[in-house]
Amino acid sequence: MNTDTHTIVSRHTTSEGVVVWSRCACGRLQMALIPYGARGKGLTAGGHDFHCPRCGG
Ligand SMILES: [Zn+2]
Repeated sequence: MNTDTHTIVSRHTTSEGVVVWSRCACGRLQMALIPYGARGKGLTAGGHDFHCPRCGG
């Protein structure tokens, strides 16, 4: 339900795509790579994938 708990910390472009750092409501930093175009797969690292005790996701 509460899906808007991530705060964007920084965003920058790399040769692979756009890297977005966000901070969850629980305080963990998470990195997300959003590749250019529709070919690549998105990638996240750092935080939790799911089952966050704070954000409930
Ligand atoms: Zn969280």
